[in-house]
Amino acid sequence: MRKLFFILILFIIVSSARAQELNTEVFNVVNLNYPGLEKVKDLHAKGKDKEALAALLDYYRNRKGINHPDVNLDNVKISKEEQKWADDGLKHVFFVHKGYQPSYFYGDDINWQYWPVQDNELRWQLHRTKWWQPMGKAYFLTKDEKYAKEWILQYMDWIKKNPLKENDENVRFAWRPLEVSHRLQDQTIQFLLFLNSPNFTPEFLSQFLVNYNKHAEHILSNYSDQGNHLLFEAQRELYAGVLFPELKDAPVWRKSGIDVLNRQIQLQVYDDGMQYELDPHYHLAAINIFAKAISIADANNFRDEFPKAYLDRVEKMIMVVVNINFPDYTNPMFSDAKLDDKKSMLRDYKSWTKIFPANKAIRYMASDHKTGTPPAHLSTAFKTSGFYVFRNGWTEGATQMTLKAGPPAFWHCQPDNGTFELYVKGRNFFPDAGSYVYGGDAEVMKERNWFRQTMVHKTLTLNNANLDSTDTKCLLWETSPQLDKLVIENPSYKELNHRRSVFFVDQSFFVIVDEAYGNAQGDVAIHYQMCEGKVNLSKNQLSAATQFDDKNNILVQCFPAQATQMVEEEGWVSYAYRHKAKRAAYAFTADKKNNDPVRFITVILPVEKEKSAPKIKALFENKQFDKKGLKVKVEVGKKKYNLNYTL
Ligand code: MG
Repeated sequence: MRKLFFILILFIIVSSARAQELNTEVFNVVNLNYPGLEKVKDLHAKGKDKEALAALLDYYRNRKGINHPDVNLDNVKISKEEQKWADDGLKHVFFVHKGYQPSYFYGDDINWQYWPVQDNELRWQLHRTKWWQPMGKAYFLTKDEKYAKEWILQYMDWIKKNPLKENDENVRFAWRPLEVSHRLQDQTIQFLLFLNSPNFTPEFLSQFLVNYNKHAEHILSNYSDQGNHLLFEAQRELYAGVLFPELKDAPVWRKSGIDVLNRQIQLQVYDDGMQYELDPHYHLAAINIFAKAISIADANNFRDEFPKAYLDRVEKMIMVVVNINFPDYTNPMFSDAKLDDKKSMLRDYKSWTKIFPANKAIRYMASDHKTGTPPAHLSTAFKTSGFYVFRNGWTEGATQMTLKAGPPAFWHCQPDNGTFELYVKGRNFFPDAGSYVYGGDAEVMKERNWFRQTMVHKTLTLNNANLDSTDTKCLLWETSPQLDKLVIENPSYKELNHRRSVFFVDQSFFVIVDEAYGNAQGDVAIHYQMCEGKVNLSKNQLSAATQFDDKNNILVQCFPAQATQMVEEEGWVSYAYRHKAKRAAYAFTADKKNNDPVRFITVILPVEKEKSAPKIKALFENKQFDKKGLKVKVEVGKKKYNLNYTL
């Protein structure tokens, strides 16, 4: 034990000594001809490197004219949570991931390869060092040197134990470009928060700048191929170029960031404004990346380096969020999305209002519906990406369905074409299952794959298998105050097509007609999963109803064209990473024995109570499946509706 203590002390002394070592490589990475660095250049030329570094530190401590859009040093605040992360960080209990709480202890002598649960995210995100910025805030507000000392110690320890070598297992995690870019961004803020500490020595400045330069250079030659990672990396490379213009390659980083973002906004965002991963969470992340680039440009007067087409597309992306999210500011949890909260959405809208002050709908959302105006339309379609929205209003008492049925997409997208979420008067009755976890070892993947299954979505399956194909086409979209109509079709399985027709009737209830046609045989099922809470299932009536006592319930009833059974299924919903809750799930299933199509009408009716709900009837008027049209008759109480279309 004594020996261990001695080694620990020795290690701390060695680490501190390293931090105090001057890294002369700094003179190769800094542009000594940069305006303001005349003294640094002069001292370096005279061989007085230590003095040159002191002059450089002095320059940074007094630097004016470079504006960081994400931090205001006149108004630094730390939340309770951040204070805890900062204090835990001092004890090497590192806040790595919200899905893994309480945080793990990484050892007195930090083990940067510690991997208590084999979830890739846990190992990757350690290298985002998310507790360093809170330590910076805690330092800035208290001037307690314990935070600065520990940050510098950990910073140097990280450099020492995570060298960038080829064919190294650890490099795959520590130097993944996404994590590198994360550090690249956060360290711009840490730098400002710790800069005036007496522990931030000229020697440490040399270590910091060399390490920072290495990060930016690494991104430049290791950009991800596509997707949101590439966007994050480009935006952060731009940050590096703008916020450390004294480094030789800064103009290259800056130009590279702008070029990638300008190119990718055209490639990754469909003409209707949706990002091509078809995931509401990553769509939001993509907006914030593009918007951050504009914010840093505005703060430093170079917005004109982004063409109008770029700004127009960002605005369109925001309008997708305005439309697909629910009136209480929550989002559909399609694909790998988690549930975002109102507070963070209001913050986003407020920052977007600054970029697009003339957009009244963004202002309406930013002001919690108090100023500005909602969009002039109600229901709307984003046909290229396949997001369809039915609504009767924009405030919390409204009814809104968002349905997802688009083209093939990438890793974050799930095989869920045709699925939807339905919000009525403040309650989401059909939340998506969510994603629960991302990637990792077999055990983690098993959990991930459960939530990805087609059959845990509100759509049609053959033998409960995942869809073979996710390439839905829109055959019809019509909207009017009396009736909205959507007809979509997906070649779901080899020899089985799924046509789904959705009617939003009288701006109050939904009729969904599912028709599966093709030569495939087997068990054809349509699945439904409800929000948590008691649900009454009636297998005789083929119905399900929620049992809330606040007069806000939903009744689902199926009217099939063939012998059909109602079966209960396993139901889970995950609103946050590694959190899940049980919920009711069921399917209406029919045995498809031959080439005849299988057809279901499902009525989804908002009711005050199941007991007092009006009687529902529904039947097909065209007895045979017809590719060119549909005729359905529905009765709700005394009201009769003819729902039909011709293609
Ligand atoms: Mg899902």
